[in-house]
Amino acid sequence: MEECLFCRIINKEIPSTNVYEDEDVLAFNDINPVAPVHVLVIPKKHISTFFAMEPGDELLIGKVHKAAVQVAQKLGLNEKGFRLVSNCQRGGGQLVFHIHYHLIAGRPFGWPPG
Ligand code: 5GP
Ligand code: ZN
Repeated sequence: MEECLFCRIINKEIPSTNVYEDEDVLAFNDINPVAPVHVLVIPKKHISTFFAMEPGDELLIGKVHKAAVQVAQKLGLNEKGFRLVSNCQRGGGQLVFHIHYHLIAGRPFGWPPG
C-alpha cells in the first residue's frame, strides 16, 4: 500500500506530529486543522473504508476508539468534550482512503454538520 498517504505516514516515509502510538494505532495532528485540536486516529492496518473491513477488524476499530479517548484524556478534554468524526466514501467527505477518525475540539460545533 505504498501509494496510501497514511500508510506512508505509518512507515515514517512522510513526517507527522504523533500524539499517540501503539502496535495497532497511530494518532497524529492533521496538517490542515479545522479546530484548535484536530488529531487523526488511524489503524496501522490498511483498510480503505468501513466497507472493506474484514472479520476481526471490529476489534481493531474498537482499539482505535479507545486510543482516541486516551488522546482526548491526554489533551484534557474529559470535561470540555470533543467530536469524533469519520467520513466514509467520497459522498461522506472521505479524501484519504485509509480508515481514520478526526478527533476535533476547542471550539463550538454546530449540528447538523455542514
Ligand atoms: P478525510 O477528508 O479523508 O476525512 O480527511 C483527510 C484528512 O487528512 C484531512 O483533514 C487532511 O487535512 C489530512 N491530511 C492530508 N494530507 C495530510 C498529511 O500529509 N499529513 C497530515 N498530518 N494530514 C494530512
Ligand atoms: Zn493505508
